[in-house]
Amino acid sequence: MGLNERDITTDPSGDLRAFLDASPSPFHAAAEVARRLEAVGSIAVAGDARPEGDAIRRGHVVIDGAVVAWVSAAEGAPEVFEIVGAHTDSPGLRLRPRPDAEVEGWHLLGVEVYGGILNNSWLDRDLGIAGRVVDREGRSHLVDIREPIARVPQLAVHLDRGVNDSLVLDRERHLRPVWATGGSTTGFANWLAERIDLEPQWWELGLLDTQPAVVLGADRSLLASGRLDNLVSCWAATDALVSATPRPGSIAVMVLNDHEEVGSASATGAAGPLLERVLARITAAHLDDEGAVSATMADALARSICVSADNAHAIHPNYLERHERSHAPLVNRGPAVKVNVNQRYATSATSATRFTSACDSADVPWQVFTSRNDMPCGSTIGPITATRLGVDTVDVGVPQLSMHSARELCGVHDPVFLRNAFGALWSDH
Ligand code: ZN
Repeated sequence: MGLNERDITTDPSGDLRAFLDASPSPFHAAAEVARRLEAVGSIAVAGDARPEGDAIRRGHVVIDGAVVAWVSAAEGAPEVFEIVGAHTDSPGLRLRPRPDAEVEGWHLLGVEVYGGILNNSWLDRDLGIAGRVVDREGRSHLVDIREPIARVPQLAVHLDRGVNDSLVLDRERHLRPVWATGGSTTGFANWLAERIDLEPQWWELGLLDTQPAVVLGADRSLLASGRLDNLVSCWAATDALVSATPRPGSIAVMVLNDHEEVGSASATGAAGPLLERVLARITAAHLDDEGAVSATMADALARSICVSADNAHAIHPNYLERHERSHAPLVNRGPAVKVNVNQRYATSATSATRFTSACDSADVPWQVFTSRNDMPCGSTIGPITATRLGVDTVDVGVPQLSMHSARELCGVHDPVFLRNAFGALWSDH
């Protein structure tokens, strides 16, 4: 489609941009997902409880920055789980427990690097603070300070003449944000307590670019925002689950894990027990016979599918040599099915067929991604979930540029394509 043919009056990304802006941390993303599910009648179930009553048909569990949600068409033993998985976390700078430092009149914040950030992308941005604090009684409170509080200032070119040949940033020394000057700040904890009007006992807080998500391009075909990896997939799955109508016997399940960017090994990560436990409780809630739970669940898992959704690398026009040209996705041409024979992606021929058939039935275009043999590829929750549950799994994702930058870029149409593919997977016709 040429520039002049494209319809630039309709913006399909408005609701996704609202989701991105409402989700500055994994905790906010989980809360926003729960809010959207509850708006259509989904019932919150405690992490240690079995769903009862209406929650058997439509319910969700939120634990910290993770969500498991389900929609079930009917009572009776589950025959198959149709699972869509994604992750709520994004690489970034997280505040240390004792962040205060002062150097030559500059007040600095101590940070730990979370995941595989692009170091340079955090330079010279106006940064706010978001995450959660826990009070003395152990209650969690979301924190979202969306105004310029801090900045990681880049060294001037005059003081590093070689910077444009090779920018070297030491993650310990060079990524410390400045956030105040002068002699009299009382420290971050006191400042925060005043700002949020409660005394934090502990916190899990990160810095974020205060710039909201925007539509970009002369033809308004692109979307720029922080955290596109992987909130795009979280949005697509949530929006599809809201209107899911699974077949009798099938249970539509969405799992949004935290900690994917740091290896998934945590209580709320894909390597933890969260999904398996919730599936067991959903199965038990559908059965009268407690003794039949594990056999019923094992049988259902053997027939199940997991679609692991995480963004893919779109072909970069300035770095064509980094891509395997027959398997390099384009933006706005549909989700990519990600294949890696060494099982960095879990895709099998059977799982890929199930996903692409769902795409075809919904008129969703799809593409294929593989990496070059001389370029190691990332991983996803797909192989981890497949290994834990023994479920046939396909890795898919929206193509994007600038992955793991503080500000990423994707097409405005691909998230909608992904949502429609999930809708087809979770539909009874
Ligand atoms: Zn990701």
